[in-house]
Amino acid sequence: SHLTVNQYLKNHIRTVADWPARGVQFRDITPLLQDPKVFRVLIDAFVHRYMDKNLRPDVVAGLDARGFILGAVVAYELNVGFVPIRKKGKLPFTTVQETYELEYGSATVELHTDAVKAGDKVLLIDDLIATGGTMMAGKKLLEKLGASVMEGAAIVDLPELGGSAKLKASGLPLFTLLDFA
Ligand code: AMP
Repeated sequence: SHLTVNQYLKNHIRTVADWPARGVQFRDITPLLQDPKVFRVLIDAFVHRYMDKNLRPDVVAGLDARGFILGAVVAYELNVGFVPIRKKGKLPFTTVQETYELEYGSATVELHTDAVKAGDKVLLIDDLIATGGTMMAGKKLLEKLGASVMEGAAIVDLPELGGSAKLKASGLPLFTLLDFA
């Protein structure tokens, strides 16, 4: 057919209104994972980009929790390691921490201190960029350990929330597959 890959993937995202709170349009990526043909197209879109020798990372870091699903598979296909950036209180070894503001309250994310080495070029992955706070916190954690984030990647960008613009303004290149305006 004449569908682009991006539109094909977008057609498999389920929008759930008023979840987890009134006024939120939740973009549910689980249908992309559930259909093996779609899952392969999704993962290949990332793998194709990061196989390029100029963009190949040393490590893939995934953001809790849907970034784990994507990041682990992409890392496996690139034959590089995967490291999880987790919500506070889940990682057993020594960690670095970063706290960031949410609409109501704050959140803290953690990374094991030996997850990356100084000088590593890291690909940072999540499912979706909204305000950009989560990805920004992940970038700061990796930088605390002396690594550099070569790119942030996600399936979905919500450009109206300004997160992707803020991340790009901070010097982080971004690769996203589709937008919801
Ligand atoms: P943010 O830190 O505001 O960029 O939010 C991004 C994180 O929250 C990602 O881990 C997403 O999984 C989740 N998230 C935020 N807004 C949505 C939404 N409308 N639909 C699905 N996930 C969302």
